[in-house]
Amino acid sequence: MTQIQETKATCCYCGVGCGVIVQTDGRQVTGVRGDPDHPANFGRLCTKGSTLHLTARPALQQQARALAPELRTQRGEPRRQAGWGETLDFIAQKFADTIRRHGPDSVGFYISGQLLTEDYYVFNKLAKGLIGTNNIDTNSRLCMSSAVAGYKQTLGADAPPACYEDIDHAQVIFIAGSNTAYAHPILYRRIEEARRRNPDLKVIVADPRRTDTAREADLFLPILPGTDVALFNGMLHICLWEDLIDADYIARHTEGFAELKQTLRDYTPAYVAETCGIREQDLVAAARWFGQSKAALSLYCQGLNQSSSGTAKNAALINLHLATGQIGKPGAGPFSLTGQPNAMGGREVGGLANLMSAHRDMANPAHRAEIARLWGVDDVPSRPGKTAVEMFDAIRAGEIKIVWIACTNPAQSLPEQRMVREALEKAELVIVQEAYKTTATVDYADVLLPATTWSEKEGTVTNSERRITRFKPVLPRPGQAWHDWEIAVNFARRLEANLGRTATLFPYADVEAIWNEHRETTRGRDLDITGLSYRILEEQGPQQWPYPEGAAGGRKRLYEDGVYPTSSGKARFANTVYQPVAEAVDARYPFRLSTGRLRDQWHGMSRTGTVAQLFSHAAEPAVVMAAADMDRRMIAEGDLVHVTGRRGSQILPAMAGDDMRAGQAFIGMHWGEEYLSGRGHDGRGSFGVNSLTSPVFDPVSKQPELKHAAVKILKA
Ligand code: SF4
Repeated sequence: MTQIQETKATCCYCGVGCGVIVQTDGRQVTGVRGDPDHPANFGRLCTKGSTLHLTARPALQQQARALAPELRTQRGEPRRQAGWGETLDFIAQKFADTIRRHGPDSVGFYISGQLLTEDYYVFNKLAKGLIGTNNIDTNSRLCMSSAVAGYKQTLGADAPPACYEDIDHAQVIFIAGSNTAYAHPILYRRIEEARRRNPDLKVIVADPRRTDTAREADLFLPILPGTDVALFNGMLHICLWEDLIDADYIARHTEGFAELKQTLRDYTPAYVAETCGIREQDLVAAARWFGQSKAALSLYCQGLNQSSSGTAKNAALINLHLATGQIGKPGAGPFSLTGQPNAMGGREVGGLANLMSAHRDMANPAHRAEIARLWGVDDVPSRPGKTAVEMFDAIRAGEIKIVWIACTNPAQSLPEQRMVREALEKAELVIVQEAYKTTATVDYADVLLPATTWSEKEGTVTNSERRITRFKPVLPRPGQAWHDWEIAVNFARRLEANLGRTATLFPYADVEAIWNEHRETTRGRDLDITGLSYRILEEQGPQQWPYPEGAAGGRKRLYEDGVYPTSSGKARFANTVYQPVAEAVDARYPFRLSTGRLRDQWHGMSRTGTVAQLFSHAAEPAVVMAAADMDRRMIAEGDLVHVTGRRGSQILPAMAGDDMRAGQAFIGMHWGEEYLSGRGHDGRGSFGVNSLTSPVFDPVSKQPELKHAAVKILKA
């Protein structure tokens, strides 16, 4: 009889970070079940998580996986299979030549929140420590960078103060810009359970769409796209007017309120209701519920982050918490939900163009010196690197000549796709490190480096509530695939030799050695994990940071003492002013298009797109519109329509949705060109929804406004 083995891991999809138990027969994954001991999910899994085993079938591995390194030395030639030695020698030589001729900023890395923390750490050290460039950014720029900037601006550090357990203690849950029921389903189950247990728990949802999350709310605020800052300022205006603020907390633990108070004068209920397109009495009710509550918890995601004013949106919501004292106590606090499984881990190691390891500040010479000392290099660069959109602009401009893309698919996921693809064609060398050879970006690769993926890797991830989980591989690596960190380390050693370095900066014998080095960089920082080890994570299960040396455990909730990691120890109110969306609708482009996740798909579908049953919820892409808009244009359900914006066009079936106001439209983010009609009306490629989205980004976080574009919709 076949022996079934069970091994603990985490789900590789969203930032809830559910624990899974993977069942194998020694050759293949035969099933998965939720880990009853994992504090993120207590045994539950959503449709995506519960079908994970179907994405690891051997037949699929043969069809969809990148299994051997591939290389071409001339653009236009097909790639041929090559050995790891030849491939890494080739790219190390190319990197060394390019850096010598054009300087360290002539190369760039675009990596991913899907990578494990140890992978992330090595890439960050490779770019900033060895090469001397901050040109390393990740798809987390499209996901969480506004949350990072919002936390730093107000609370002093990129640290979500709340935890999942706060859902059980909250009296009011304010969900803003998040369809939690779809994007973080297991967390939503916890909200439903909390409501069953506590009939007095109120749920408020602010969203331009009447999503499944909004339908279940006690109070739904159907705000116009991009008006969140006006809404949060308006709620705080009412709290001030009705004496629902916590004057004592403001006085003892914050600074900057007087200036914000002046700004808030303008956000009268009448002005805010009109600006947001909501009823004044609903705005007042939301403010009162929030301000009067014993414990108000906010959950928010891409509706706040993917915005040209994403930092202000985050900060305005945090202002509301600070002013009402709704932070640092059970059931209260601003709580950003991370999109990806390890966006948090990437932030911890500083794997973004403007971050430094362990939440250090790139502009701070003392912090740079600390990292240089820890890494054993003379210095680390102070010039901020190119962020995601800027990086591809710089590639298109010929400024960055080599780009290394790991575990992400920018030829589908970045805004203004036509420009991104021009950049990939223009680059002198495109290296793609991927588990799947089916992504759109692989088509542009001069070098394809096959990587291991879920169930094959060892390392750690951090979920939305700062909880670190360690897992081990379940399956052997397929074909010639290497672990992501191994690829980076083996390349780095070759590059060191090419650059004439004798001692290596990458002496790691295994993944634990990387973890131990990363852990040491956190000593004395807000995310100190010097008390954690692989052994503790294995024996005691997933742990929250901080977990400093000598601690008995991790910290569930931050700022309970009212002391913040700022120079004064006080939180800072940001003076948030409402700015409209970057691209206004007009007579030519009258629809407000928003984008988002569907329930059963993940990102560009390289994994979920291989599971037939995940198409039962939505079989094909569609543009969802209000029935009245369809009637007015004589568009019937299922008719093909041109959706055209200032940057591109695509043809999609139309679908009526009562979640849309008149003048609004929605397209799921998952489908790329292979699923679409192929050509836009202008004869250029139709590259999925991001042929339409805008590259305009927030001035602080540099996160692009993927959530809003002005379009017209015409019957095809
Ligand atoms: Fe995976 Fe997220 Fe579903 Fe949990 S909620 S099973 S982490 S996709």
